[in-house]
Amino acid sequence: MRIDILTLFPEMFAPIKESILKRGAESGKLEINIINIRDYSKDKHKKCDDYTFGGGPGMLMMPQPIYDAITSIDGYKDARKIYLSPKGKIFNQKMASELSKNNHIILLCGHYEGVDQRVIDLLIDEEISVGDYVLTGGELPAMIIVDAVSRLIPGVLGGELSAEIETFSDGLLEYPQYTKPREFMGLEVPEVLLSGNHQKIDEWRKQKSLELTKNNRPDLLDKNN
Ligand code: SAM
Repeated sequence: MRIDILTLFPEMFAPIKESILKRGAESGKLEINIINIRDYSKDKHKKCDDYTFGGGPGMLMMPQPIYDAITSIDGYKDARKIYLSPKGKIFNQKMASELSKNNHIILLCGHYEGVDQRVIDLLIDEEISVGDYVLTGGELPAMIIVDAVSRLIPGVLGGELSAEIETFSDGLLEYPQYTKPREFMGLEVPEVLLSGNHQKIDEWRKQKSLELTKNNRPDLLDKNN
């Protein structure tokens, strides 16, 4: 898979450069490119934003640098082109799984008051939000999507099996987990997990998943019924 990320602030991607980007490249299964939108500005001062027509606070990203940046990407027509936006559909595990099956994704990060609507109308396939709150830019949302998607691509980050049995994979939150020591600060690992009886362990885990989901995310239970 190839993911192209368009941003005005490429340096913000430092946190994933050392981890996902590197491991993706090493695996040969995921290539991530960070593209600086400013490099495509035709303005002599490389300006990429301006006031909004009709008035209103703040600046808006101009269409030309974004349009040229996207259309200069090899194979952009067939790529899934996503604009990170608080107005988009809320991202979830199902979307991550679906996105992980694409060969080429382009992620557009907005800044300031967002981007000129015409660039969305001309080039973007869908808008995705990471939650009902407004951030200053699309860079953190893009990193969230890259992280959630890349760990589902077989051979990129390892642990494919764990991705199948964790929180949300079956519509429930994951059960509590324990490792050594058997007793810590007076708290014992639940006896059933030490029993070696896999049927009992599965039943206990399912029960705990249900209890946790009922307590913390009852909306997930409603969705599954
Ligand atoms: N004026 C816009 C609005 O009310 O919808 C908000 C713009 S926001 C300050 C700047 C940029 O941050 C957006 O263009 C978008 O790329 C990104 N952004 C902010 N919140 C986001 C969210 N919840 N999910 C995804 N992207 C978000």
